[in-house]
Formats: sequence, structure tokens, C-alpha cells
Amino acid sequence: MQGLMQPWPLTVDRILDHACRWHGEREIVTRSVAGPIVRTSYARLHDRAQRLSNALLGWGVQRGDRVGTLAWNTARHMEVWYASMGIGAVCHTLNPRLHPQQLAYIINHAEDRIIFADATFVPLLEALLAACPKVEHVVWMGDGAEPPATRIAGLSAYEPLLAAHAPASWGGFDENTAAGLCYTSGTTGEPKGVLYSHRSNFIHTFLTLQHDIIGLSARDVVLPIVPMFHANAWGLAFSAPAAGAKLVMPGARMDGAAIHELIETEGVTFSAAVPTVWQMLLQHLLATGGKLTTLKRVVIGGAACPENLIRGFHEHFGVEVVHGWGMTEMSPLGTVGAPTAELAQLPFEAQLPQRLKQGRVPLGVDLKLVDDAGQPVAHDGAAYGHLLARGAAVAAAYFRRDDAILDADGWFDTGDIATIDAHGYMQITDRAKDLIKSGGEWISSIEIENIAAGHPKAALAAVIGRPDPKWGERPLLLVQLKEGEMATADEMLAFLENRIAKWWTPDEVLFVTHIPLGPTGKIDKKALRVAYGAVAPA
Ligand code: AMP
Repeated sequence: MQGLMQPWPLTVDRILDHACRWHGEREIVTRSVAGPIVRTSYARLHDRAQRLSNALLGWGVQRGDRVGTLAWNTARHMEVWYASMGIGAVCHTLNPRLHPQQLAYIINHAEDRIIFADATFVPLLEALLAACPKVEHVVWMGDGAEPPATRIAGLSAYEPLLAAHAPASWGGFDENTAAGLCYTSGTTGEPKGVLYSHRSNFIHTFLTLQHDIIGLSARDVVLPIVPMFHANAWGLAFSAPAAGAKLVMPGARMDGAAIHELIETEGVTFSAAVPTVWQMLLQHLLATGGKLTTLKRVVIGGAACPENLIRGFHEHFGVEVVHGWGMTEMSPLGTVGAPTAELAQLPFEAQLPQRLKQGRVPLGVDLKLVDDAGQPVAHDGAAYGHLLARGAAVAAAYFRRDDAILDADGWFDTGDIATIDAHGYMQITDRAKDLIKSGGEWISSIEIENIAAGHPKAALAAVIGRPDPKWGERPLLLVQLKEGEMATADEMLAFLENRIAKWWTPDEVLFVTHIPLGPTGKIDKKALRVAYGAVAPA
């Protein structure tokens, strides 16, 4: 027997409709890419996004078409999100930190028809558009009517485009329609696209609104530092309007001074960022004697949160740091470390070991641990296994790829190795995927190895991530030279130049006589990590 309730598709345009209707005057404040602080409201953002929808329709954008963005966290970026999603098109957030060749690959793979770009990224686009023949229009998301001088033919300006159109109406499609696309770096090969649906984003919004997860309220002032182009800013561009929270968008400036100023002048109560950004803020505050008078809670995730952040924000500023874990494929939230009833009663020092773990699941996510043979591993906080996930906002397949990514029971292998303790706290202990996370963004060790091993003097090359106080991890390149060869570190680094993104450049190159291989002939990364100080011996 079926229930007798109204059909009400869970499409994300309804989130902004709700914010417009019930929290219409709540502000969205942006540090604009040009510099000044600009203010709008959910009602105005809604109106402008609907005008932009009509501009897209005028260009022939249809349901399912991809609309790319190369943009910082700003109100305009949100307008493009809702403008494309509201008409059933797919908002494809491009990560500008990727190597231009990878970006071109992604734009072509997604077949983006239109790209909206902040002024910062116009030169980047200029350099790669010749390789992207399917892009029909590029829109500069600046203030005026005159786009910057550029080689991009027919570059449109955002504001005149909006001004020329009346608001479109939204919705009217199935909740399983694709809404967003975000590529994530793989261990090998090209990045893979995660294609969110309206339903998965809507459910993820409910999921994050649970009190122990992000739990925003209409009184909150939210500063999403996590970029909209990486894992959807942890859903904050959906959950803040859903709750009627004020939004403060940091634009292009993420340094400690800029973030501190925004927090204090706008009365920020909640923020979310990767550890590197919080390290910079903590250092800035300690160096300048700055205070945090409104901030109450921050979620730190994307990479392991170090103890000094949880302790430092608590002891100096009374701010609660909550550790979170997730991934692009999970929309992205998987766990958050809010205390259980028992833990909350303990003094801070006693809570700390639990708070350092990645946390507990919300309703809507399920996790389990399995060993190499796929057998369940005990949730005793000691035994570790492959961390598998499932849920309504977890990917079932990658965009335009045939490989199966779920096991027979529908579980997705996260590529993380973890423990889960008796209280349900998950802790990442290692990473099965051969990647390095630096400043919250991925570096593919294998890609650097493959290039370095192509150096005429190299016999073998290995790259491992070493802990770094600012970036979390930084790459170390180990090279085994061919018999009788001599080489310098500069020589190896020069060989990598222009072949990898600059920030991927290894911090150090070491020449070794022997790179250990495992039983299957693969480089034994575990042994290297222990030998070169990346992890403690087991
Ligand atoms: P991404 O899809 O780029 O967001 O990366 C997701 C991956 O980042 C996870 O599978 C983990 O390997 C890593 N990660 C995310 N959050 C954390 C965390 N709190 N601690 C350790 N690793 C994390």
C-alpha cells in the first residue's frame, strides 16, 4: 500500500525559493573579487538567479546541459549555481587549482557549454580554451559592463546579461535529475566526475542540518571558507539558505587577516575550512593578539585536524573545533565529531582523544569496516579495515564511466583505512589510495612518479607525503638512479617543471640506492613512509 502524501520533488530550487519567501531579507555578504564588501539578500539573489536562468535558456541551455564555473565563494557564484540547477541544467564547479591540462580534460569530458569565470581565472581560461572546442560562451563575473581585455572571443559581462533578462520560473522536473558535477582526483588516470542529483543534494542538506552535524539555525552567520568548487563547500550554499542563516562569502582572500576581519565585522558564528586555513588564522590571531568575539563553532575537515587547532581555539578563544570527514563522492559529509552525552560530561582534556577522531555518522550515512578479504572488522577502536560507505547522498557511479564502484551490497570503498570505536567514532588511520593531501587539495604521487621515472637518468622514482605543519602533507621525491648515473635535485625538479602544477613540486628530492618493492612488484610505499618519517613504524 502506498502512502497518501503529496508529491513534492526534492529539487534544490525549492531551497532558495524557501529562503526568498521566509528569510528574504537575510543577508549574503561577499568580499568581492575586486575587493570591496558587497551585500545582497536571499530575495535579491533569488531574483537575480532567475534572471540568469533566462539568459541560459536564451542561449539554448537545456535540462542536463553542463554549465561550468571557475569561481571563488561569492554571491554571484551562488546565483550561477541556482540559475543552472533551477532549470534542470547541471552546475559544474571547476577546481582552478588543477593543472590546466587536467582542467581542459574535465571541461571536455563534461562538455561544458558555458563557463562563468571570476576575473582571477580569465587568464587561466584564455590559456586552455583553444583545447575546449565545445565551450560556446564565457561569462566574466565582474562588476561592470566592460570585461577585461582578453583573447577570449566574445567574452560576455555578467551584469548586463542579468539586466537584459526577466526572471524565469524553476522546477517542474524529477528529483533524480542531475544538479551538480564535481570532479575528484583519482590515484591514477584522469579526474572522475561525481554527478549529484537534486534529491541527493536535498537529502544531504537535511543531513547536514542535524544538530550534531552542522546544525545551522536562522540566528547563525556562516562563513564557508571551504570552496564551492571542492566538494560543494560541504553543502553550505544549500544549508545556509535552507536554515535562513546569514552567509559571509570570503571571495579570493583566505589569509588569516582577511578571515579574521570578516568574522569580526560580520559577526560570524560558524565556519568550515581545511586545517591549513585554520592554522593561518590561529597564527595570525596569536601574533596580533586578535580576538574572536562571535565565533562559536568551526568544522575542520578535508584532512586530519591536528590537536593544536582543537586545543588552540578552545583555550585561547573558547571556540569549539569539531572534526569532520567526508569526500566528494559523499556530497561530501560522512562523519562529524560532536560529543556524545557521555563525552560531553568529561573535562576538555579527557574529551580530546575522541575529538581528534573523525567523528560519528549522521542519519543518512552508513559506514562499515572490512578486511582485505571483504570480511567485517570489529568496531572496537583497535582493529582497522577498509572504510566503506553508503547512503542517499553517496555516489553510485562516476559520470561517463562504466566501471562499477559499488560492491554487490551497494557499498562504496572510500579508499581510507579506519577504525570505529565502541562509541561509534571513526578514525582514519591510513589511506589505501596513493594520494597526498596538501592544503586540502590532492597531489597524485603516482603522476609525479611516472614523470620523474621518465628522466633519462632515473631507474625508479617514488613519491610519498610527509607531514607538514602548514599544509598537512607535502611531497617528497625519492629517486633511484640508473647504474653509474649522477644527478642533482635541481635537475629532477627542472624535469618536472611545466609538467605538473607548481604547488605539486616536491619539497625535497632524495637520491637513494634502492627503492623497495612489495610482493606484487609495486613500490612499497608503506616501507618508504616509515623509513622517511611520513608515519611511525607499526
Ligand atoms: P575529497 O573528495 O577531495 O574531499 O577528499 C576526500 C578524502 O580526503 C577522504 O577520503 C580522506 O582521504 C581525506 N579526508 C577528508 N577529511 C579528512 C579528515 N578529517 N581526516 C583525514 N582525512 C580526511
